[in-house]
Amino acid sequence: MADKISKAKRSWLMSRVASKHTKPERLVRSLLHRLGYRFTVNGPKNKNLPGRPDIVLPSRKIAVFVHGCFWHRHADCKIATTPKSNTAYWDAKFARNIERDCQTEAALLLQGWQTITIWECELKQLDQLAARLVNSLPRAKFLNLPEDLDDQQLVAETQSAYATFRAPHEK
Ligand SMILES: [Zn+2]
Repeated sequence: MADKISKAKRSWLMSRVASKHTKPERLVRSLLHRLGYRFTVNGPKNKNLPGRPDIVLPSRKIAVFVHGCFWHRHADCKIATTPKSNTAYWDAKFARNIERDCQTEAALLLQGWQTITIWECELKQLDQLAARLVNSLPRAKFLNLPEDLDDQQLVAETQSAYATFRAPHEK
């Protein structure tokens, strides 16, 4: 039992070490880049802001987190399973993760930063994710879309613009 926990802890630590520059993060960067945003991934704000955001849009004070659905407990998500053994250990770990994410978001809000969480599972539908980002992020610079589109038109426009953009593994 103790050995199992230490194995789980080891893989947790390894996932933390490997978490920067992983494929999901690269996909999000590529998407934001295509959407015309300027952002940093290794700037001072990435290191110093609460929660060390994966991606920072400094001029807009937006911190983007790319979260694994399992570790960060994406609600109603198929990936966010709970291991059947050592349940007390996992429950406690997940509770800490959720609490930490809430504290991070609150701390950023208090400093005047908006946060956007992108879930790992959303990366399977990049055109939908693009549409969601267009709705969540300030619009002005996107794709030269007119300002007066309603939300439905905006989603449709973005989806058609990004329908051709697919993750490399889907090609
Ligand atoms: Zn998910």
